[in-house]
Amino acid sequence: MSKVALITGAAGGIGEAISNLLADEGLSLILTDIDEERVKKLSEKLEKKTSSLSFYLDVTNPASCTEVVAKSLDNFGRIDILINNAGITKDSLLVRMKEEDWKSVLEVNLYGAFYCSKAVAKHMMRQRSGRVINISSIVAQMGNIGQANYAASKAGLIGLTKSMARELAPFGITVNCVLPGFIQTPMTEALSEDIKEKIKERIPLKRFGTPEDVAEVVRFLASDASSYITGATIIVDGGLSLL
Ligand code: NAD
Repeated sequence: MSKVALITGAAGGIGEAISNLLADEGLSLILTDIDEERVKKLSEKLEKKTSSLSFYLDVTNPASCTEVVAKSLDNFGRIDILINNAGITKDSLLVRMKEEDWKSVLEVNLYGAFYCSKAVAKHMMRQRSGRVINISSIVAQMGNIGQANYAASKAGLIGLTKSMARELAPFGITVNCVLPGFIQTPMTEALSEDIKEKIKERIPLKRFGTPEDVAEVVRFLASDASSYITGATIIVDGGLSLL
């Protein structure tokens, strides 16, 4: 029986790349996002490679997370891998940051990962195996002007990862975190060309990352080859954080 992976934010740039590579590995997929239309289309696109289901899932709603996990188990009977990938930005300088923008970024990026992890962990503990992969950001370690909310949410994910790794290790579950740098996706497209050029100058490898650069690390963390790695934070940033 093939392993099953549940991906949040699967309709986005990195989510789609992860879904593609995991489909290449023959994993069955549960593709979730608030963009229902796009995950449905992605599921149809992957039809030739693997079996997949698509669900509307707003990760800020704990009851919906539990419901989607239950529906996934009804269909596939198991969930082996959870990828907490859904994320948003609402950038502004601290002194101008609206309370609702602080709150909504924390709710999607950090609370969402907690709700989904809690819903899936109960099943994985019974199964006595599992992988949780959290998509954080290099900004969690470096900070960034205009991203106090985003950096705080992504730093929170690192603490969540390490605590979950300790709690769940006795059940054969590993929990790891990926810290991408600047990756070309709809999330970063909004930045002006000028700002993009300035960022590129600071990257030792002199290019932006692709969604596949991140997805390859997720593929490794989801595979049997990474079975002795837990509580780790793996940086995929072209060397940006070295400077
Ligand atoms: P993206 O905007 O292309 O995709 C994000 C996806 O999350 C979208 O499909 C969106 O619909 C979904 N989403 C938003 N709110 C949601 C909610 N409440 N519930 C469920 N889904 C929701 O962005 P991306 O670049 O593919 O980002 C994926 C992850 O990688 C995010 O967590 C992001 O913070 C992280 N990341 C991205 C970069 C980058 O440079 N692009 C860098 C570091 C980390």
